Amino acid sequence: MRPTTGSLLGSETADAAVSEGLNPMEIFDMREFDDHELVVFGSDAATGLHAIIAVHSTALGPAAGGCRVWPYATTAEAVADVLRLSRGMSYKNALAGLAFGGGKAVIIGESRKVKTPELLEAFGRFVDSLGGRYVTAEDVGTTVADMAHVRRATRYVAGLGAAPGQAGGDPGPKTALGVYLGIKAAVKFRLGKADLEGVTVAVQGAGGVGYHLCRLLACEGADLAVADVRPAALQRVCEEFGARSVPVEEVLALDVDVLAPCALGGVLNVRSIPQLRARIVAGAANNQLAQGQDGAALQAAGILFAPDYVINAGGIISVAREYQGGATEAQVTADIQAIPIRLIEIFERARRENRPPNAVADEMARERLGHHPRQPHQPQKLVA
Ligand code: NAD
Repeated sequence: MRPTTGSLLGSETADAAVSEGLNPMEIFDMREFDDHELVVFGSDAATGLHAIIAVHSTALGPAAGGCRVWPYATTAEAVADVLRLSRGMSYKNALAGLAFGGGKAVIIGESRKVKTPELLEAFGRFVDSLGGRYVTAEDVGTTVADMAHVRRATRYVAGLGAAPGQAGGDPGPKTALGVYLGIKAAVKFRLGKADLEGVTVAVQGAGGVGYHLCRLLACEGADLAVADVRPAALQRVCEEFGARSVPVEEVLALDVDVLAPCALGGVLNVRSIPQLRARIVAGAANNQLAQGQDGAALQAAGILFAPDYVINAGGIISVAREYQGGATEAQVTADIQAIPIRLIEIFERARRENRPPNAVADEMARERLGHHPRQPHQPQKLVA
């Protein structure tokens, strides 16, 4: 295990990055770099771990955010993703009113191929080397079982199995609950409808969040069209919730009330936005807008966009409660009820000021972060 810490890049990392075509000094100039406090690279020859942790901000507390396992084509791509995701976590945690800053980790590799208990434990040692400055949990490619392996090497992890009634466990269903409540708020705001009976929703991605979102939407009578690259995931939601299966290349352009992106980021861009026919875009995926100005394009097209890091905060709310200790699942659910209230506040301000909701949300998040100058890190007390 050779974590390089304390500066943006240590020398070992710099060598490795240069050999892969990434000039470390260029990271400062990357579009995704936003005065991040720390970017560290960890490798472990014995297990094949190649990981990056980015801490965007600890202004509000230790940086919290999940660990993504993904087969990035290049190191530069992984760096860009971890920078973008960690900044998103700062904004998400700030607007959710959590005493946590923003961070994220990525492990480079195909989830099914690289993940072993030993590699996850090595990743735990990497997390631990930051002394609590970063707290990890699940993201795309990682599970509750994976976090149990990480836990063997560090206390700075959440999203572990929870006793019945206690806060914790898989954040996916909690994220889905927040997205469902957010969709209801957006439908009321944009379409003036108080329930989801007959509301058409296209869901892109029926994974950890999408599956539970489909369940909640179907329970309330929504009409679901779902796409997933995994036939088994698709079949499950079709069979269990009566969803209609649609091809992955068609889901974004369906003529529906709500489009819920629940797969990966960057799906709202200069190519896709002109094709959209949904009235509302509200889903779980992080970083749905390829660029900030894509929010303005949605607004110009009359599409109401629910800023992703606001609507998808349910999982981190659960993770934060679990990490702080002593909370019940009922408290987590109560916290998640604040998501639609926050969204309506953003929608109303956006309408009043004739601005895209994502611009309003970014401004609100920056205000909250700006009001808290950086503090020397204080690891939080953990409940044994
Ligand atoms: P997941 O990996 O469990 O599910 C993603 C699903 O999307 C998979 O079933 C996958 O097959 C599918 N998919 C991938 N590419 C696709 C494509 N091109 N078209 C259609 N489907 C495709 O991940 P998840 O935990 O459900 O998270 C989904 C998104 O929500 C991610 O962007 C994640 O970062 C974000 N998010 C998740 C949480 C959480 O609590 N899990 C919290 C906040 C944000």
